Amino acid sequence: MKRIAVFPGSFDPFTVGHESIARRALPLFDELVIAVGINSHKSNMFSVEQRVNWIKKVFAKEKRVKVDSFTGLTVDFCKKNKATFILRGLRTSADFEFEKAIGQMNTVISKDIETVFILPLPEHSAINSTIIRDIIRNNGDASPFVPKAVKF
Ligand code: ADP
Repeated sequence: MKRIAVFPGSFDPFTVGHESIARRALPLFDELVIAVGINSHKSNMFSVEQRVNWIKKVFAKEKRVKVDSFTGLTVDFCKKNKATFILRGLRTSADFEFEKAIGQMNTVISKDIETVFILPLPEHSAINSTIIRDIIRNNGDASPFVPKAVKF
C-alpha cells in the first residue's frame, strides 16, 4: 500500500518553513499532497488559486508532491486521496496544544489516519504567515521568508 500523507494548511502565503517541513517529510512517504484548506471563516490575503500555483511552482521538480485545495474536514479529504497520514509542523507550545486537540479528535473520527509532526529547523521557527502578511501590508520586504517562486 502506498504511504500517502496530506499536508493541510492555509499557506497564506507558503513560507520557507512550510517548504522545509514538506521536503523533510518526503522520505517518510511515497506521496505528499499539499492541500490549501478553504475556510470561509478566515479572511485570506491571497486567493486559493494563487496559493496553489505558488506551491506547484515550488515543487515543480518533485513528482511525489501533489498540490490541491479542499473544503470540509481534512480527514474526508484524506479519504478521498487514500491518505492515511496528516502532516503538520510544530513550532510553539501554542501549536502543540492546538494540534494535540485536533490530532486526537481526528483519530477518534477516523481511526486509520495518524498525524505526524515535524519540528521546524531552528532558523524557521519564528516564521509565521500572519507576520508575513503584516510585512506585506506595510510595504516591507518579505522575500527572506518565502521560497523564490513566491513573488508578491
Ligand atoms: P493553519 O491555518 O492550518 O495553521 P498554516 O499555513 O499557518 O495553516 O500552517 C500549516 C502547517 O505548517 C501547520 O502545521 C503549522 O504549524 C506549520 N507551520 C507554519 N509555519 C511553519 C514554520 N515556520 N516552520 C514549520 N512549520 C510551520
